[in-house]
This record gives sequence, C-alpha cells and structure tokens, in this order.
Amino acid sequence: MVSAVVVKMGCVFCDIISGKIRSYGLYSDEYVVAILDINPANPGHCLVISKKHYTNILDAPPELLAHMIIVAKKLSVALVEVLKADGINIIITNNRAAGQTVMHLHIHVIPRFIGDGIRFKFRPKNSRKMN
Ligand code: AMP
Ligand code: ZN
Repeated sequence: MVSAVVVKMGCVFCDIISGKIRSYGLYSDEYVVAILDINPANPGHCLVISKKHYTNILDAPPELLAHMIIVAKKLSVALVEVLKADGINIIITNNRAAGQTVMHLHIHVIPRFIGDGIRFKFRPKNSRKMN
C-alpha cells in the first residue's frame, strides 16, 4: 500500500490528521487514525479515518478499505471488553444521500447496549415473507 498523505483544504478530518484540530485519539498507524466521535451515539463511539483524503468507499482503494475494517474489528473487540458492550454497529456512510456529512472516508464503530434505544430504520420497502 502506498501511503502518501494527501489533504483537502477545508476538510475537518484532514485538519484532525494534520493536527490543526484536536481530537481524542485511540489508535494510529501508517494509514489510519481512530478517534472518538465528537457527538457520540453511545459512549465509545469512534471513527476509523483514512490518513489520505478519499471521499468514501466509492473512490478509495480496496486494500485501504480492507485495512480499515481490520482496525474497526480490533477496536470492536476492545470496546466489548472495556465497556462491556453487548454489540457493535459498523457503519459507513457514502455520499449525502446515504447520510454522509463529513466527506472524508471513515468507518463508525458504535458500541451497543441492550435497551440503549438507538434505532436504525432500513427495512426493505417491499419486503416479502420468505420461507
Ligand atoms: P457521517 O455523518 O457518517 O459523515 O459522520 C461524521 C461524523 O463525524 C459524525 O458522527 C460527527 O459527529 C463526527 N465529527 C464531526 N466533526 C468531528 C470532530 N471534529 N471530531 C470528532 N468527530 C467529528
Ligand atoms: Zn479530508
């Protein structure tokens, strides 16, 4: 994997990676950082962010995505152990239509707790009963 750090002006995550904006870092390597989300859905909600600026999975190289999910898995295991989370949601938003607000590739790792009240609504519109 080539690891040229390319930043985009005005991108909040590029500013975090370059140190212009402060964040609470949990992990860092040659390709990614993991930080706590500033507006967490639950305690421990963190983001795995590519060091190089890509918009989302649509323009990112597959090897980088593979690495990011491995990091997300490691964080998930740690969050389950440390926070005693009952589950984990891994979420990637891609483009505004899918809820992406920061247009720099990132993976949400969200610890879940039984009865935490978070609801994700994405039932198929035309679900058919299968048996
Ligand atoms: P998304 O809606 O998938 O693009 O998610 C962007 C996430 O970035 C949101 O959950 C925000 O709370 C989070 N976020 C935005 N700015 C910051 C920041 N300065 N530090 C940490 N997290 C941030
Ligand atoms: Zn960026």
